[in-house]
Amino acid sequence: MKKPARTAASQSPAQMSALDLWLTRISWGLAALMVALMAWLLVHHLGGTGSAAALSGEGDSTVALVGLPENLSIPAFDVPDFQPAVYRKASLRTIIPTRERDEVTIYTVEQGDSIFGIAKSFDISPETVLWANYDVLNDDPHMIEIGLDLKIPPTNGVYYQVQEGDTIESVASKFKADPDDILTWPGNHLDIVEPVLEPGTYIMVPGGQREFRQWVVPTIARGRAGVNTTIIGPGSCDTSAGGAFGTGSFVWPAGNHYLSGNDYWSGHLAIDIAAGMGAPVYATDSGLVVYAGAIGGGYGNMVMIDHGNGFQSLYAHLSQINVRCGQSVYQGNMIGLAGSTGNSTGPHLHFEIRYFGAFVNPWQVLP
Ligand SMILES: [Zn+2]
Repeated sequence: MKKPARTAASQSPAQMSALDLWLTRISWGLAALMVALMAWLLVHHLGGTGSAAALSGEGDSTVALVGLPENLSIPAFDVPDFQPAVYRKASLRTIIPTRERDEVTIYTVEQGDSIFGIAKSFDISPETVLWANYDVLNDDPHMIEIGLDLKIPPTNGVYYQVQEGDTIESVASKFKADPDDILTWPGNHLDIVEPVLEPGTYIMVPGGQREFRQWVVPTIARGRAGVNTTIIGPGSCDTSAGGAFGTGSFVWPAGNHYLSGNDYWSGHLAIDIAAGMGAPVYATDSGLVVYAGAIGGGYGNMVMIDHGNGFQSLYAHLSQINVRCGQSVYQGNMIGLAGSTGNSTGPHLHFEIRYFGAFVNPWQVLP
């Protein structure tokens, strides 16, 4: 049985039977299916969906790397000899929450804490911590002691106790803040249409700021001969205008050249240098000792040196003082030992530099 010729191919001398034609079509169809299957497998595996076949190790190594069963152990990893590098110090204590806070947190002071360090760990400014804790700190960052509970505001600004007669506007202007920021701060829970400030309650004034008292010991200058200098404590003495003079350059007053605690900020016009109990403390420059002994204000045992060129340096919380008032010292001389006297949560060296009575950030003059 023959079908009528319908195509050009069927007009060739070797005409195909209907069976031949269908066999050809089926084999082409199978070939197309196989190509499609191969293409699907290729795309599927390279796409990294990690099928069981891929995990069995069949095929190329790219496929086997896609995923590992959980029960596989990782082979020993030989650490090559790395070049020496600067390692980031691991901080074991992280208090910064993963999501934003809108309420005040209470933090209990631990050994070695400083307002600066606590503020940093909560990602807020040290001033914010100082302002929120006037009742216990009295604006003095040195007043912290182990076990003290501090209020930690959720954002930078002033955490304020509402007084009789306060309005959003009056509070905002008092702390140079935006009334809308107070109104809309979630933790304040204020009715946006009819806000009511309840006297005695606390509100957060985001972005607010206020003046605060600076707790510092006075600058003591060496006196002219016969002139009685201000007596401010048992470590003071009358000094003459003579004695050693500074070079104008400065050396680190401790073996460590890094901080432990407060950096220089508006509430702490000094740096707290890392120094263990009994670590030697050196004169940062030559000069005349104008104070050597215990003093108030949380400084503990303190040495002040007048360098005679406008500069003064101050060393506080010492465990031992090796110089006496009125003595000339030279740059690098050991003047005492570091400690934790006065208001201090752990041994460190509180170091100040002043220039004609004004405070200088020690980082600007230290090498
Ligand atoms: Zn300090």
